[in-house]
Amino acid sequence: MVFGKTRLNSLENQQVFKAKIRIFTMNTIQLYKAGIAKSDRENPPTLKSRYSEFKDELQELVEDRNVDELIDVIHTIGRLVHYVTGSHIVSYLAWPTVKKHAMRYKNHGCIRSKRNCKAHCKHK
Ligand SMILES: [Zn+2]
Repeated sequence: MVFGKTRLNSLENQQVFKAKIRIFTMNTIQLYKAGIAKSDRENPPTLKSRYSEFKDELQELVEDRNVDELIDVIHTIGRLVHYVTGSHIVSYLAWPTVKKHAMRYKNHGCIRSKRNCKAHCKHK
């Protein structure tokens, strides 16, 4: 017989279960917004950090000219616009990146890749 932690009827497990169900039923835009909000809350950006992300992606585009890099550049411009205006409207133009972030948030609770999350994120 197993008691305690593994029982689903403890209050904490019920809350975790409800959160998992909620995330499972969210659509891409909701997942993206929630993932970005969590990331910005736990790892607050600055205008400088947003700008340096843009410059890094721009450098990658210059070195390796392809559509994927262009989409990443558009997304970093979207992140700058979001920082200033609070709107994700430009980010949505980089839809493949939005989808990628949404799926990562859904699958492991962070918009970053598992490798970058481990290397750079602080999560509460
Ligand atoms: Zn992370």
